[in-house]
Amino acid sequence: MDDTIGWGTVAAWLRTYARAIAAHRDELTELDAAIGDADHGINMDRGMQAVIARLDQLPPADIGALLKAVGMTLVSTVGGAAGPLYGTLFLQMGVAAGPAAELSLTGWTAAFDAGVRGVQARGKAQRGDKTMLDALLPAVEALRVADVSGRRVDEALRLAAAAADEGARATIPLVARKGRASYLGERSVGHQDPGATSSALLLATAAVTLAGGRGQSGEPG
Ligand code: ADP
Ligand code: MG
Repeated sequence: MDDTIGWGTVAAWLRTYARAIAAHRDELTELDAAIGDADHGINMDRGMQAVIARLDQLPPADIGALLKAVGMTLVSTVGGAAGPLYGTLFLQMGVAAGPAAELSLTGWTAAFDAGVRGVQARGKAQRGDKTMLDALLPAVEALRVADVSGRRVDEALRLAAAAADEGARATIPLVARKGRASYLGERSVGHQDPGATSSALLLATAAVTLAGGRGQSGEPG
């Protein structure tokens, strides 16, 4: 069975993510009000609306070019920490994906891993620092495990979304060690990290849109 992620589903994922960010804009901003400067929802919404405008101008069938354009749009439209970090995520994903019209789960996992490593290289944060990486790193790990154990794309993406959501919720008791929230020290405890929350949404929307194509029917054997 042809169990791949095609250009059209990647574009659909980005549109779905933009809608999810718009729907959660106030919630993300409230989370940032608690441990930051109350702009994360506003920043991400501005960036994803710009991405939507850019999507319509892109030639189909090149996943790498699509993801790189998303990254560059986010870097140029989103201020603060999250713009360059999400920009790097998509840019490095696009570089790793290359000019492919569709990717296997192995190719998708490698691209996502490259993107997350880009975020780490740029922000110098580790797991447990109460950042977006607390959602992204468990998602990479879940994708990798799903890939080596021969899971289908839809199953792998659901596992990655669950891992990201769990990772985001696990930021609540943590002390922030990177970004603006780290200025609060112990006072950052008891709040979910806004960036980890927007990253969990990224994986949740991937699970609902990227797995929507072929290979989802669950045929036995
Ligand atoms: P700013 O903090 O500049 O106002 P945002 O509010 O848009 O930017 O984004 C804040 C989020 O960015 C945090 O919740 C955190 O997840 C993420 N973040 C901040 N610094 C880092 C870093 N060094 N590495 C990874 N993520 C980071
Ligand atoms: Mg902020």
